[in-house]
Amino acid sequence: MEYRKNDLVTLCIEDIGNGGEGIGRTDGFTLFVKDAIMGDTVEAKITKVKKNYGYARTERVITPSAFRVEPECPFHRQCGGCQIQAMDYERQLLFKVRKIRNNLIRIGGFDAAFIDEIMEPVVGMEIPWRYRNKAQFPVGYDRNGGLVTGFYAGRTHDIIPNTDCLLGAAENKQILEAVLSYMKENQVPAYREQTGEGLVRHILIRTGFASGEIMVCLVINGKKLPKEEALIRKLTEIPLKAGRFDAQKDKEQKESGKEALVNPEADSAACRRIVSITVSINRERTNVIMGKEIRVLWGRGYIEDSIRILRAGEENRVRFRISPLSFYQVNPGQTEKLYSLALSCAELTGKEIVWDLYCGIGTISLFLARYAGKVYGVEVIPEAIRDARENARINGIENVEFYVGRAEEVLPEKYKKDGIRADVIVVDPPRKGCDEKCLETMLAMKPDRIVYVSCDSATLARDLAVLCEGGYELKKVQGVDLFGMTTHVEVACCLQRKDS
Ligand code: SAH
Repeated sequence: MEYRKNDLVTLCIEDIGNGGEGIGRTDGFTLFVKDAIMGDTVEAKITKVKKNYGYARTERVITPSAFRVEPECPFHRQCGGCQIQAMDYERQLLFKVRKIRNNLIRIGGFDAAFIDEIMEPVVGMEIPWRYRNKAQFPVGYDRNGGLVTGFYAGRTHDIIPNTDCLLGAAENKQILEAVLSYMKENQVPAYREQTGEGLVRHILIRTGFASGEIMVCLVINGKKLPKEEALIRKLTEIPLKAGRFDAQKDKEQKESGKEALVNPEADSAACRRIVSITVSINRERTNVIMGKEIRVLWGRGYIEDSIRILRAGEENRVRFRISPLSFYQVNPGQTEKLYSLALSCAELTGKEIVWDLYCGIGTISLFLARYAGKVYGVEVIPEAIRDARENARINGIENVEFYVGRAEEVLPEKYKKDGIRADVIVVDPPRKGCDEKCLETMLAMKPDRIVYVSCDSATLARDLAVLCEGGYELKKVQGVDLFGMTTHVEVACCLQRKDS
């Protein structure tokens, strides 16, 4: 039978694709069905037809799958950020194990039985909600010209006015409302993508879950906001659960070299307060959210937070300073488990020379440094390295050195010119994985162990194939669910040199 766009079909969903879509067949024709869960029987409308397969959208669930749950978020289908929110959480974790496994077999060329032997279950969250410490909300207009902020409706640039994403911090809503009210009262226009006119593009909110410190950064298409003091007043007067942050006192405390006013160890996660209000200047006609120039309007230019990890039952906490442009894991609770895993793979005894490539603000580097001889961190964003150095200082960690640059350039240079060795190399690259040149140099340096932390199991599989071909054995693979309700999964892998 020939299928056409807009045809209605009834089909049983037998599988799930890597993007969380349901996969089913009708008359031998495969359909990738949006908003369908494995085990559902649905009525779906065909949205696109290719030669041997097509795409469809669920119109009606006829018989719900046993894995189907009622989505918590009323905007679930429109937003598209949580691709698998309608799936039972336990099932989500199984889906992620399978996704990693399939990629290792199909892309990495690993043997299925071998993968089953070394792969551990994905580490899940106790409560898979409100786990994100960072959110970026676009600001714009609705159809009636009303000022709105919220989320882009899946794959479009229409804003759904939802200020309470259930993955983010509960305070975000109050903060967004305060910013909108400042904009309305002072006739501050939102940016219009189509024309490149207007001012406020995005609102970035970052929260230190351990410290309670909040950063609000407005991304603007200009140099300055009108009536900045009105914005500051609005934001600092929000009745958050905790007391007000005293910027002046904080500054004096810091300048006199004393402990920061906010001591993460002493703080409860409930004590939230805004400590930093900044603007990021982005005047480019681009989809990139943040501009490179940051100006502090009030308080500090950064927040502090801390991460606690366990190693052989012993608790270890490191404090971090985080600037608007620096990368910081978005799910701090699960990050603790991820880093604990990475650290155990490194098997440090206190003497090792360790490289931490793609180190960001030095998060993994500083934990490694506590147990290694010497750690070298490499990261391409200069602000992040500035944070990393400051982080080493505030934690009193001296056996670490940071370099700004691309891993694939810095590593070969340090190895070939300066002859620096490595006992252990840790990599935590962005989605595109490691550059070939970087992998090549890692192999040439012959570290005993390689720890690969990845946020994309497809590029991970590709890179692991190169490393294993080059003399390493994959010892363990474990996913950690940093991104519940979405199809993303973080993975930590331990590799050992065969002849070591
Ligand atoms: N390990 C850190 C950061 C991981 S995210 C943490 O857990 O917090 C990946 C980091 O790699 C980002 O900070 C990004 O800026 C950086 N990066 C991207 N491409 C790079 C490259 N070619 N060389 C070095 N760092 C790079």
